[in-house]
Amino acid sequence: MTADVRWPDGARSAVAVTVNFDGESVERTADPDAPQWGRFSYGRYGAQVGVHRLLDLFERSGVAATFFIPAWDAERHPDVAERVVAGGHEVAGHGYHHEDFSALDIEQQRDVLKRSEQGFERAFGQRPAGWRAPDGLMSAETRSLLAERGYEYESSFPDDDLPYVVATEGSDRLVELPVFAGASDHHYYRAHRLPAVVERAWQDEFDAVHRAGGLFNLTLHPRGDYGSGRAVRIGPIEALLKTVARRDDVWVATCREIAAHTLATAAGAPLPA
Ligand SMILES: [Zn+2]
Repeated sequence: MTADVRWPDGARSAVAVTVNFDGESVERTADPDAPQWGRFSYGRYGAQVGVHRLLDLFERSGVAATFFIPAWDAERHPDVAERVVAGGHEVAGHGYHHEDFSALDIEQQRDVLKRSEQGFERAFGQRPAGWRAPDGLMSAETRSLLAERGYEYESSFPDDDLPYVVATEGSDRLVELPVFAGASDHHYYRAHRLPAVVERAWQDEFDAVHRAGGLFNLTLHPRGDYGSGRAVRIGPIEALLKTVARRDDVWVATCREIAAHTLATAAGAPLPA
């Protein structure tokens, strides 16, 4: 572990419930104006069905989640945008149209971030405080660019158990909230794992992270193919949230809250971007 983060109120570990919206922009990246058909509509399933299932679950579990949403998808589905905000969830950036940031130069990345922020102003009436790279892809300059534009945190690197402060160009205020494959749905479902297997795996992963005092950054997708939006796939999430709720030494918080806490309490030098 690289940072000395102590969780609030004597908690031993922290849990962030995050949703990568990954809507129709995923299928439409090549041609945003082309209609979708047949098997190219799993993103639409997520927007029409899957995300509402997740929101229903969060409502009955009393969980405030963080939704990483491409601005194009947020503007295309105002009913979803409205319900996410009304549910008390955080909204954060995930590209304008789920772009591959590793294929963009710095000026193109700046342009996409700007379009995404403008889309957020229109859809949510606010700028995003956080960001997650579409498909986890970015370049060496991306985190410095995020810091320059006033972002408070980034959440794409699987390089630690704990959040840490990134030493970006000109600022030491950007926090990284690490992710890992074992706490994500798509790594399992892309490999056609059964929900019962995912449920077991998440319980084991959470127990281990809790004992180690780390951050369990649960990463969900509402999509109908590799996501958790299908009826049968709600069970593993609900079981995990019940396990978490049974403990009184776990801090469940939004990404923005965890980033603010990290910045306020982290000791030691920031890590290079
Ligand atoms: Zn994504």
